[in-house]
Amino acid sequence: MSTDSTRNLYGLDRESLAIFLSRYDVPEFHAGQVYRWMYQRDVLSPQRWTDLPRTLRARLIEDVTVDAGTLGRRTGAEDETIKYRTGLAGGGEVETVYMRQSDRVTLCVSSQIGCALDCDFCLTGKMGFKRHLTPGEIVGQVALIRRDRALDGPFNIVFMGMGEPLHNYDSTIAAVRLLCDPEGFGLSRRRVTVSTVGMAPAIEKLAEEPIRPRLAISLNATTDEVRSKLMPITGKYGIERVLEAAVRFRERTKDAFTLEYVLLSGINDTDSDAARLADIARRARAKVNLIPFNPVPGWLTYRPPSRARTEAIRDRLSDRGTRVSIRWSRGAQARAACGQLALLPDTPGEAPMEVSG
Ligand code: SF4
Repeated sequence: MSTDSTRNLYGLDRESLAIFLSRYDVPEFHAGQVYRWMYQRDVLSPQRWTDLPRTLRARLIEDVTVDAGTLGRRTGAEDETIKYRTGLAGGGEVETVYMRQSDRVTLCVSSQIGCALDCDFCLTGKMGFKRHLTPGEIVGQVALIRRDRALDGPFNIVFMGMGEPLHNYDSTIAAVRLLCDPEGFGLSRRRVTVSTVGMAPAIEKLAEEPIRPRLAISLNATTDEVRSKLMPITGKYGIERVLEAAVRFRERTKDAFTLEYVLLSGINDTDSDAARLADIARRARAKVNLIPFNPVPGWLTYRPPSRARTEAIRDRLSDRGTRVSIRWSRGAQARAACGQLALLPDTPGEAPMEVSG
């Protein structure tokens, strides 16, 4: 953690680095060098920034920290999913998840410690809101796991960990810029997805960004009445308002978006729900991802529908012309699945498998 007397450079963009370095009265291009060392090359010791003048390096060694955070406890599940506790540069922890399915690697990052939105089926919501992450704390999760897993090819990032990313809009967008910059992490923006419960004005703002992630809307109900019980934000932005914003996003950007739908047995999985969901997807011209709920015994009482029921809902959607897929739970054993990131102690009797690093 940086102290009051040192400045943590990690997370700064080129412009902020240039402003910081101007105190040393050095040419501006050194900001680009520092930027590439940190994000493209993942070298965080100023001692090793060998293309900088020796005097500048000496000053930086003296004056700054370059702190991307630390990886703590990791828990592995059988399906090549690893949940990490990530210590943050500014103090506190979040959870970050690595998932691999054949050659496809996806990292699920957190954007806040806890969450203010209190969705009823979500463990993170039960924590309450602690604080927003900085851009450096968000991309730090990516850097640490990239190093730990020795990732040298392209991979995907989903903002589906702890927190509502659009509630922490500025840090989320700053992180997306670092991730998608060819001189930063170098990911295609097609590989970065932000999932939101539907903060409508923020979705519309996102549509105006020059560098945008893909968008996923966490819908989870087909009527405002049911959705309000599951997701209190519905009182502020009802389903139609969220869809209006998402459609505006698509029209403005020409980027398709997806609708995420966590299936809860007896709550949102009726035939009528399937019919309404198909109608919503048709109007929104969106693909639907069905996500059977990951049960959390002892913490949440919701249950997923049976496999047969889940497949029946998929078929009903498909019969109505909806593009739909089922995202079967990955990482449930390590409580690394969607809606299960909350830094809770392990449930007694559960036996998560430790993975050595
Ligand atoms: S589902 Fe997302 S927005 Fe809702 S409480 Fe959980 S983290 Fe927050």
